Amino acid sequence: MDEALARAWIAAVTKSVRAEADRLTDLDAAIGDGDHGVNLRRGFEAVAAALDALEASSAGDVLGKTGTTLLSKVGGASGPLYGTVFRTLGKTLRQGGSFADGLQAGLDGVRQLGKAEVGDKTLVDALTPAIAAYAGAAGQGEAAAARAAADAARAGADSTVPLKARKGRASYLGERSVGHLDPGAASTALILESLAEVTARATGR
Ligand code: ADP
Ligand code: MG
Repeated sequence: MDEALARAWIAAVTKSVRAEADRLTDLDAAIGDGDHGVNLRRGFEAVAAALDALEASSAGDVLGKTGTTLLSKVGGASGPLYGTVFRTLGKTLRQGGSFADGLQAGLDGVRQLGKAEVGDKTLVDALTPAIAAYAGAAGQGEAAAARAAADAARAGADSTVPLKARKGRASYLGERSVGHLDPGAASTALILESLAEVTARATGR
């Protein structure tokens, strides 16, 4: 990933979060406190401003800046978690690691921070299969890998519907969390869908 693609990805996420903020907030109203869309919109507006002010840099710098901005601007559980994903991804790229390695390191950070496993009805349920799909398709090129990751994230998000939440605010509802899509898993699917779209455009596929 080069700087232009990293900037295009984050711009696409920002646009998607603006468009879907109400839906994400409605999902969170059903099993949480109804602020997920608001939290992410506030965070990505701050990221957009921070990236506008960032001089020519690298993909690692762009994604690292995205992470530190989310960490400082987003309250709630999702700010530190997404902040960790992007900050770790940026750090891995700056150190010469691959995008797939960066995603894996980001997930490791999220699991360390939030202690959620697959099946706990959180964004980990979307991120984990997405990263496995990206790594599995990496040999077919960036666009194919990103598409595989986006599709797996969507399926992973959908898989949260019948689950009972075991982490985060939704876990306070116990059985009453069953039958609802997890808002964080839904936003992870949006983030990876944005990656697939911008990567396809950049590589002309
Ligand atoms: P809050 O729950 O503090 O209001 P948000 O509404 O912004 O924060 O984000 C809620 C989302 O965060 C959940 O839908 C879930 O996907 C994710 N989440 C919450 N706790 C955890 C955790 N411990 N590990 C991973 N993801 C979590
Ligand atoms: Mg919330």
